Amino acid sequence: MNHDRSHDLFSRAQALLPGGVNSPVRAFKSVGGEPFFVERADGPCLYDVDGNRYIDYVGSWGPMIVGHNHPEVRAAVERAIGNGLSYGAPCAAEVTMAERITRLVPSCEMVRMVNSGTEATLSAIRLARGATGRMKIVKFEGCYHGHGDSFLVKAGSGALTFGVPTSPGVPKSLADLTLTLPYNDFDAATALFEQEGGEIAGLIIEPVVGNANCLPPREGYLQHLRELCTRHGALLIFDEVMTGFRVALGGAQARYGVAPDLSTFGKIIGGGMPVGAYGGRRELMSQIAPAGPIYQAGTLSGNPVAMAAGLAMLDLVSEPGFHDRLEATTHALCDGLEAAARAAGVPFTTTRVGAMFGLFFTDAPTVDTYAQAVACDTAAFNRFFHAMLERGVFLAPSAFEAGFVSSAHDEAAIGATLEAARAAFLEVADA
Ligand code: PMP
Repeated sequence: MNHDRSHDLFSRAQALLPGGVNSPVRAFKSVGGEPFFVERADGPCLYDVDGNRYIDYVGSWGPMIVGHNHPEVRAAVERAIGNGLSYGAPCAAEVTMAERITRLVPSCEMVRMVNSGTEATLSAIRLARGATGRMKIVKFEGCYHGHGDSFLVKAGSGALTFGVPTSPGVPKSLADLTLTLPYNDFDAATALFEQEGGEIAGLIIEPVVGNANCLPPREGYLQHLRELCTRHGALLIFDEVMTGFRVALGGAQARYGVAPDLSTFGKIIGGGMPVGAYGGRRELMSQIAPAGPIYQAGTLSGNPVAMAAGLAMLDLVSEPGFHDRLEATTHALCDGLEAAARAAGVPFTTTRVGAMFGLFFTDAPTVDTYAQAVACDTAAFNRFFHAMLERGVFLAPSAFEAGFVSSAHDEAAIGATLEAARAAFLEVADA
């Protein structure tokens, strides 16, 4: 594969953008090598500036659940653009979006639109603190909730990938208010709440962790957290930025039957535009300005073009059978990858939840804790990543990110991916 034009762009970018990118994991730092620069995207594929094609399992890190450049999403955006780009005054699409979210996710009786997942989680913990009058929050090792100061404590995603799970620049006094727990450990959560329960404003969790590879919750774990929060008067916050509308139409809370007090969303509800949202019980959300005293605002929030893209996306994912078909695709992909690894003699396993999956280079039959995820063979993952990329398959460029399938990943795309994987696993075995 030729990468001359990407290489040239990356050289120029490195002089002007920190690390050459506008978001860290894009830089390929942990897998080595240089990123490709995208010219266009369509269906399950990205096309780079050198004319190479990649079957894409990153999906813009989650939003592209119906594939890239979907004609209905594009048409909705084109219609919206004809009416102007931003109003700074209310528009009908915001009401439709709120109606849609509250219908699909019943624990959200009211919502507020924002512009990113980071804004959604920042706002949700401000609300949790404001509503309870308590200041401590609980998060889980390896979970990523955006780059808000309170969350960059033992964080996942790029923070974990680059070995700075707790970032310089986060005031110690604030970091001290963030308590961390090991995910899927029942007793640790019970013990922490027994000790600190009276001071905890809220517990925030990715109900399926997608930022430390992909870790599904153990049976009853989310229920256990629900009970602890209720017993100790803390708010349970599900960060469904990745899982929302993906692991089920109603998100992880529908899939596992646990209702949080607050939820945060992003990615899919923006259809690829910069969007986030948070929502929850009416009595809590009514405390947000201007209905109540807890302040949160946004110049571009509820942007008409972004609402149009998100609504078109939600229409598509609401079609009967959509999530079942995606889940079948994930299984076909992961079963095929496991078979290819076995044939090559490479210790490897996968996790799958709906349209999310995890790839683990390990002897363990399954992986569902952060400690297990970080103990996997990242060098083997990196070799596999490059062997796949060379064969036109783009996986997340880090061993600590979930993969995503979309409805555009048809049999041909999965077949081509598995063919690449059979050769790539042999390369890993030979190394
Ligand atoms: N929460 C989760 C679970 C995420 O995966 C992410 C981003 N990957 C965020 C929050 C932050 O979203 P954004 O990048 O849109 O700020």
